[in-house]
Amino acid sequence: MDSSGPRGADFVTSNSPDKSKDLAPSGEAWQQTPLESFPPPEKWDDWTEYDPAAWPRKVERRYRLVPTVCFNCEAACGLVAYVDQETGKVRKFEGNPHHPGSRGRNCAKGPATLNQVQDEGRILHPLKRTGPRGAGEFEQTTWDEVIETLSKRIRKALVEDRRTELMYHVGRPGHDGYMDRVLQAWGVDGHNSHTNVCSAAARLGYTLWSGSDRPSPDYARAKFILLISSHLEAGHYFNPHAQRIMEAKAAGAKIATLDIRLSNTASMSDWWVAPHPGSEAALLLGFAKVILDEGLEDRSFLQEWTNWEAWLEARHPRANQDFETFMDLLRKDYSEWTPDRVAKECGISAQNVIEIGRAIGEAKGAFASHVWRSAASGNRGGWQVSRCLKFLTVLTGSVGTPGGTALHSDNKFVPAPFLKPPPQKVWNDLLFPHEWPLSHHELSFVLPHLLEEGRGKIDTYFTRVFNPVWTFPDGFSWMEMLADAEKVGLHIALTPVWSETALFADYVLPMGLAPERHDLMSQETHAGSWIAFRQPVLRRASEMAGESTEWTWETNPGEVWEEDEFW
Ligand code: SF4
Repeated sequence: MDSSGPRGADFVTSNSPDKSKDLAPSGEAWQQTPLESFPPPEKWDDWTEYDPAAWPRKVERRYRLVPTVCFNCEAACGLVAYVDQETGKVRKFEGNPHHPGSRGRNCAKGPATLNQVQDEGRILHPLKRTGPRGAGEFEQTTWDEVIETLSKRIRKALVEDRRTELMYHVGRPGHDGYMDRVLQAWGVDGHNSHTNVCSAAARLGYTLWSGSDRPSPDYARAKFILLISSHLEAGHYFNPHAQRIMEAKAAGAKIATLDIRLSNTASMSDWWVAPHPGSEAALLLGFAKVILDEGLEDRSFLQEWTNWEAWLEARHPRANQDFETFMDLLRKDYSEWTPDRVAKECGISAQNVIEIGRAIGEAKGAFASHVWRSAASGNRGGWQVSRCLKFLTVLTGSVGTPGGTALHSDNKFVPAPFLKPPPQKVWNDLLFPHEWPLSHHELSFVLPHLLEEGRGKIDTYFTRVFNPVWTFPDGFSWMEMLADAEKVGLHIALTPVWSETALFADYVLPMGLAPERHDLMSQETHAGSWIAFRQPVLRRASEMAGESTEWTWETNPGEVWEEDEFW
């Protein structure tokens, strides 16, 4: 936003007709940053502003501004907590304009972190079940009792070499690798995830083609953006992607959205196409044929960066082993995906196939796209959607180009831990059943059925911000599993809030929200690398005030522990 524009001018004149006298409560000139009035970092330790609730009186309030990272989706946008120096409480959260991914522009869930912190229904103390599982009857217990009970139980399982009976099942990630290290240190095969009902299929397609399990589209500089069943990239890094898609559109990029819904995004796109669910891979191959037929492929990229020789030798060993032959045979291989055939299979017009395929090719290496769940996760063989999409990225030479699509490993920065235990030596059939040897992530959605078949049992089961009773396709199977102590000996729900699954726990343990915990965060939100630190803001604010804190729960609300402290 340009501070010299109308909004910046309004901001100054509405507060004082004489700009030279327009001073902040701190006595200095108002800062005119791209976000108009965001306090400069050098003043974050002691920032004064008027209390809007006291208007029209001018009541000054002093804050310590502490940066942290949002925890309400995987995008990890920056937040700044305004910690009131008088009350010691967080008064508001705003977007952090210095965060490279979100740049101060958050979705509504970011600032709404305050509502979560202040939610009267949140879990603030460790709770222990008193009634039958699922009845929702709990009493407050102590962390000492929790640690004592769980430590004894885990130790007993380890001593008795029952290393497949301890399980940690993660719903919301964001704890980069910490629990893997804990479980591996125990020699336990017990990490479960939600991923197989989420992104596993898309990741498989990307991994098979590139060794990197997801792409990193450079939407901001793209000339053509293809969104697959995505509402402004609602699928993953929603807000950082959305703002860059809008920038590209403002700069003239074209957008095509494949979505059976006429979403807001679809309505603002240059093309809205609603293929039959499950037919998306065919449509992508139709685009590929148009690109090949019209000679819009990036031949020099294909020649230099793909293993076309290996393909030729494996698929056409008797043909001439030169690049021209490769291109001819590639064109022939995809000749069956005619616009008419694709149109029929997808239930769309052939003209759309031709126009969009041509526009992708004409983007000349500035083709940005991404699929994460949606078409890939909702259909059998969905991994082919990301594979076919990757094919378009390669065909147009859009790999790692400005406005193209890089590998996530180019931009996500994951620091290696200073110590890592060796991998466990046991195999847990409840996680990776042997009849699905190629499953890309744990087959967690069949866990209740595996237990029902007597394939194993779980002695101690941690669910971490995970609510399969509500979010998995067959919640009733999970209710039956969680209610049966023969299948799940002890269930511990780590969660900041109540959920249908937490009601079936034996212990419900409070964990910190975005401003109540430490984490390292880095995501491939755009063409750039960054790492951000989620931190407990009240702990940090008390340190800034010269106080020392040993445990984060001392400054968090109630007895909310950090998970690292817990483990
Ligand atoms: S998009 Fe950003 S602000 Fe919104 S929930 Fe996700 S991390 Fe938080």
